[in-house]
Amino acid sequence: MSTTPTVVLSGVHSGPNPSPGLGLARSLRLAWPRLRLEALDYSPRSTGLSASEFDRVHVRPGWHAADLDALCAGLVSIVESAGAVFLPGLDLEAALLADRSPGHAALLLPPSAAFDAVAKPGETAAALLGLAIPEYRFAEGVEDGADFAVRHGWRVWVKGPRYQAIATGSRAELAAAIARLRETWGGESLLQRHVDGTEESVVFAALDGELLGACAMRKTMVTAEGKTWAGSVDLLDPPTRARLVDLVRVTRWTGGGEVEIVREAETGVPYLLEVNPRFPAWIHGATLAGVNLPARLVAAATGIPRQERERAQSSAFVRVVEEIPAGPHATGAVPLTHRALPAPPGKHPSGMPVLSRRLAPPRPRQRTADLDHQRAADIADALVVDPYESPARVYFGGVLDRGLDRLAGVCRDVEDATGVPTRFAYSVKTNPDPRVLGAVLRRGALVEVISQAEARRCAEAGFPGDRVVLGGPAKWWRFDGGPVKFGAVFCDSVSDLERTLALIAGGGVYADVLGLRLAPPGVPSRFGIDVTCPRAYRRVADALRGAPVARLGLQFHHAASQIGLRAWLREFTAAVTVAADLLTRVDVRARCVDLGGGWPPGLGRAELGGQLVRATRTAVRELGPIDQVLFEPGKYLVEPAMAVFTTVLDVRDGPHGRAAVVDASIAELPDWGSHPHPVLWRAPGAPWRRLRPGDESVLGRLCMEHDRPRAGLALPDGIAEGDHLLFLDAGAYDASMSFRFGV
Ligand SMILES: *Cc1c(COP(=O)(O)O)cnc(C)c1O
Repeated sequence: MSTTPTVVLSGVHSGPNPSPGLGLARSLRLAWPRLRLEALDYSPRSTGLSASEFDRVHVRPGWHAADLDALCAGLVSIVESAGAVFLPGLDLEAALLADRSPGHAALLLPPSAAFDAVAKPGETAAALLGLAIPEYRFAEGVEDGADFAVRHGWRVWVKGPRYQAIATGSRAELAAAIARLRETWGGESLLQRHVDGTEESVVFAALDGELLGACAMRKTMVTAEGKTWAGSVDLLDPPTRARLVDLVRVTRWTGGGEVEIVREAETGVPYLLEVNPRFPAWIHGATLAGVNLPARLVAAATGIPRQERERAQSSAFVRVVEEIPAGPHATGAVPLTHRALPAPPGKHPSGMPVLSRRLAPPRPRQRTADLDHQRAADIADALVVDPYESPARVYFGGVLDRGLDRLAGVCRDVEDATGVPTRFAYSVKTNPDPRVLGAVLRRGALVEVISQAEARRCAEAGFPGDRVVLGGPAKWWRFDGGPVKFGAVFCDSVSDLERTLALIAGGGVYADVLGLRLAPPGVPSRFGIDVTCPRAYRRVADALRGAPVARLGLQFHHAASQIGLRAWLREFTAAVTVAADLLTRVDVRARCVDLGGGWPPGLGRAELGGQLVRATRTAVRELGPIDQVLFEPGKYLVEPAMAVFTTVLDVRDGPHGRAAVVDASIAELPDWGSHPHPVLWRAPGAPWRRLRPGDESVLGRLCMEHDRPRAGLALPDGIAEGDHLLFLDAGAYDASMSFRFGV
């Protein structure tokens, strides 16, 4: 090495989401005040290029323009001609260099195999580090990921292949996040369950598989994006250190690295979030706490003696924002035009999104998929007449029958496991189609209604009163005074309870079971009685004391399809525990629990049964023996049982690929916003095929900007006017909320 050693650093942008270059420069300056430092980045807008720490700056051509081999060779030649060592600040640049210049002694970065070991979700690294991995799934589009996300109450992270993670809370947010990451970075997204807990980081430096040092950091402030803004630094505990030694040895790590961990609050289990193959942007915080890892790395790699001893200035660090004079490359910058929207993707000065899209594998061309036999047979049974009326709602009787079989199986499973007789009441409002009601009637199941009109419709369909469950906030609207009989009546508010008790006492209403609908205590809901509120508790107790209630029931309904099965059980348990206490006080026993609807259609028999068994056991534990369990599937049964059949009217080219205009619209698919439907395609005389995720759309027939029933699809090459598209899973609220509009 020369006597005036030089270090080249890449990734020096300093913004709300900074790269580590500037922090590395500061740490190295602290160790060697006269070290020569050169900065390298891919746009003159990289703000750190103006920092006084740098003796020279290199603005390299953006990743879109040049040939990648030439860019790598150019970087290596900058490093070699300066007799320097190179510390990367950008993951993808480092991965590319590891691949194109393997084993180059001046490039202080991990070998390619180490990049593979830490690639998300990082299973190899997690095994070596003794960490768990949050449940995950790879997804190209929302249909690949929805089943996974719904099981976790939609609380998942959607992660780009290398950078960026977006938290989601609903199906629509999931679809948007997958589309945005794909547009920015290209390639598949990783979906990972959200873990509630505290975040920790471990930063380390290594040379040729030997650990040079490490420390731990807990975030104490973060930006809106979750980036560290302040933190406290600690020594590493010996077991973690020993495992890190393993990781570094097995991967023959060279360079900096960061392990991001979240420790789950409920279980204490530490989960690996990711391993970054470079120093983190907060690296100078560790230096200030007395662990100068960049200096240890450069000293070990070059043999330059350290001039300063490491010294802790504080065990914690904070970030500040600072104005500095702009360097010559930045003084000619064009003023920003005033606009409301954030910079479009790909504008980060590092150019990483551009590089990522270039490295992402191209989508395969022929992208439709075969249907399974069952699906093909269901469609053939439903579309017997060809050409079929269009647009039209198509009913799959076989799907409904199999759903009813599954529900009967769930009832048996719950009875076998708990000993409590179990039945289900189909939620009529979800889809009041007479064919559905007829099928439910023939199975001997119950119906759940929310209005007198629905109750009449069920009576006309042949349901006796004792197989009708009446609930909801408006159940007595236009009530004719009776007398009328119901299997069960559940009251949605305290005043509803008082009115219903009066109707029963007056002889106008007879109910086998009279009950309360319990509100979820911990999530906002407009429905039910929150018995954890002292005033409601007292009024319910007063109403029930001495009331003419033969059998009391408790109903709990909040969509598990929105909050997830775990949160559902937590809310149910909390509500039932307080209700049990109330009933003990007024000396009334609950005889029946009703476990509501909102069950996600993708759940198998075992999953739904298991959840109902857990809830029933909780109920028995809190309430004592009960003699009936009810549950109220709606969309679980009917969502997959109908589709919307459409005809393609036009296929148009646009700036973002093609779009097919169809004769259906938001009128037939009103729930499209919260529910991206799977779509099948058929050319005349050809079989149905499933469309895969992509960047194209299907537009509706109405002249409304938002009449766009589906985005995020790949349209097949041959799609043409007169072809048909079939929107699946349209049998729930898409059916009941449809309206005549623009017909
Ligand atoms: C709407 C409703 C259901 C059915 O809900 P789905 O989401 O269709 O499963 C069940 N029970 C009650 C009380 C309801 O209001």
